[in-house]
Amino acid sequence: PTPPKPITSGRDARFVPTLYAAVGQPDSWTLDTYRRTGGYGAAARAFSLGPDAVIEEVKKSGLRGRGGAGFATGLKWSFMPLNDGRPHVVICNADESEPGSFKDRYLLSEDPHQLIEGMLIGGYAMRASTGYVYIRGEYVQAAERMWAAIHEARAAGLLGKDVLGSGFDFDLQVHRGAGAYICGEETALMNSLEGLRANPRLKPPFPAAAGLYGLPTTINNVETFCAATQILKYGADWHAGMGTERSKGMKLFQVSGPVRRPGVYELPLGTPLRELVYDWAGGPQVEVKAVIPGGSSCPMLPWDDKTLDMPLDYESLAAAGSMLGTGGVTLIPREDCIVNATWNMVRFYAHESCGKCTPCREGISGWMVRMYEKLVRGHGQPGDVQLILDMADNIGGRSFCALADACLGPVLSSIKLFREEYDVLATTGQPLYPPRRRWREA
Ligand code: NAD
Repeated sequence: PTPPKPITSGRDARFVPTLYAAVGQPDSWTLDTYRRTGGYGAAARAFSLGPDAVIEEVKKSGLRGRGGAGFATGLKWSFMPLNDGRPHVVICNADESEPGSFKDRYLLSEDPHQLIEGMLIGGYAMRASTGYVYIRGEYVQAAERMWAAIHEARAAGLLGKDVLGSGFDFDLQVHRGAGAYICGEETALMNSLEGLRANPRLKPPFPAAAGLYGLPTTINNVETFCAATQILKYGADWHAGMGTERSKGMKLFQVSGPVRRPGVYELPLGTPLRELVYDWAGGPQVEVKAVIPGGSSCPMLPWDDKTLDMPLDYESLAAAGSMLGTGGVTLIPREDCIVNATWNMVRFYAHESCGKCTPCREGISGWMVRMYEKLVRGHGQPGDVQLILDMADNIGGRSFCALADACLGPVLSSIKLFREEYDVLATTGQPLYPPRRRWREA
């Protein structure tokens, strides 16, 4: 197939979505519709290339994991052992739970066959004949559509024995989570799949060495598998030709908060934040003071020209002291109390901590959340902000998994940017920006 036309940015921008092409189209989730637009042609191409060439193609495309960490996908696939005689497993992490992220949800419910095809390609490349889609419990429609699509694919010989006459056997199962954020951490996810309590496991060993039931396993995000489908459809060069030097391809950015058109936008990596928020999302509805660039775990940045001109790619965000994460951009209104907004996030992490390690259980779920509650309720004392910083110092880098560090993202960045708001609240008991009518109602 011919790749979509190049993207021109600016006022006349006309971008052609690929990952999100089907979203919003009638009956996009059915096999008939998917096949009419060339569906399963990418898998057929993968089978004609052979497994090693598929991994090379994904490496060449420059695709990096879209779950948030941005690890090179082709490299990750190449970690799976060769000819070790054990069954291999691929897992799709569809436990999308990062506050500010809502891109995978629509891929699952509106275009499940694109994901099945991506997992088929990944399974073939990594010599896995079993795949699991771990969907967060709240995504009810997504899980139903995924199951329906799997049944359709099985009936059409696209899953099961000898897929498309390739001699390759592959089947998929859907597993629904029960509403726990920690299940998105890949090793906790595997414990959950095994029927155990979803506590994270120690890494290394990484899943490719010892994963689900100790078998070689690769876990990728929904968007990553879908991008693999597009790469096999249009070629590695097409993918590598978009984005920046080290952050290649298209990315699904999500915009939420006080903007005129909140939603998911498929744009090349490296698109400036200003273009995403103003040209695509219609601009802010109220005055903004900070932005979370990639989901709640990513440190917030000040809403100024430097941030607005920043290209949204892995390197630029890291250089700015934050992360691209899932690409979930959230705007924080100027007149929202930053301590209250941060408390909201801290409460989330405190609630979702699995309790396995002390820094997270006692630090985040114990001390941190209570310190914020004390401040917001107006019972703060002058030394409280320093106490929060000292606690953060003792939690950061000392927890078992990334959850506690993720909570420190909003905590430390908000104190760094808006120390005055914290100090006023801690010393007077009154917020600089008192609660008011929500901006939505204003
Ligand atoms: P990580 O960097 O530890 O790992 C990323 C991936 O690369 C994993 O699959 C890991 O197995 C692999 N990997 C890393 N180093 C490796 C090595 N040396 N050898 C082999 N494989 C290796 O990050 P993580 O803890 O998996 O994820 C953190 C990210 O998750 C954060 O950046 C955050 O943005 C994101 N996140 C996303 C969501 C969501 O809903 N999508 C939720 C929470 C967090």
